Amino acid sequence: ETALDAGFFLRWMTAAAASVDREAARLTDLDSAIGDADHGSNLQRGFAAVVKVLEAEPPGTPGAVLTTAGRQLISTVGGASGPLYGTLLRRTGKQLGDADRVTADELRAALRAGVDAVAQLGGSAPGDATMLDALDPAVEALATSFRAAAEAAVQGAEATVPLQARKGRASYLGERSIGHQDPGATSSALLFSALAETAGE
Ligand code: ADP
Ligand code: MG
Ligand code: MG
Repeated sequence: ETALDAGFFLRWMTAAAASVDREAARLTDLDSAIGDADHGSNLQRGFAAVVKVLEAEPPGTPGAVLTTAGRQLISTVGGASGPLYGTLLRRTGKQLGDADRVTADELRAALRAGVDAVAQLGGSAPGDATMLDALDPAVEALATSFRAAAEAAVQGAEATVPLQARKGRASYLGERSIGHQDPGATSSALLFSALAETAGE
């Protein structure tokens, strides 16, 4: 099985930052419909800071790349998504430990722990029309391939459209949140697309 080294995780974070940059306007548009129109700029600022710190001092292990990235997101993103994505990456990185290389299966198990930590922090579950609607099916599909995970995340994000938001700012709208795609689920799909791209899938 392929072993993923620190370089792979550095490339993933760089690809994620580039993707967030390209899609920032779209993420902010989605957030303007059911939130406060800052999701794109929040993540743009956060991932730019992630890339900066990873380039200045590249960590030597997969786990350290993700914990460093997560810590940076928590300290630079003021909105709800900062602590949530920060927790995702930190917990996933912690789970990977200090191994020089990890298998795709080990990454899947670590991401499972990371997504569970997001659910715990957010007090949320799939079906609440949040990032978990993309993250959860993506991690499940990771058992098949990186590409399958990316596709499951996109489908999960699209599946938030008919749902009423039960967590986060969008939940303040009650039934008026129905008919809108969740911004965080949309950015989660970008993260998994960046992962598949990094894996060459
Ligand atoms: P804020 O809402 O503070 O402005 P962002 O706009 O950056 O933060 O992020 C909003 C996204 O965060 C939502 O679209 C949703 O996916 C996610 N989110 C918010 N609250 C929760 C929660 N309790 N659990 C899971 N995800 C959440
Ligand atoms: Mg917002
Ligand atoms: Mg905000």
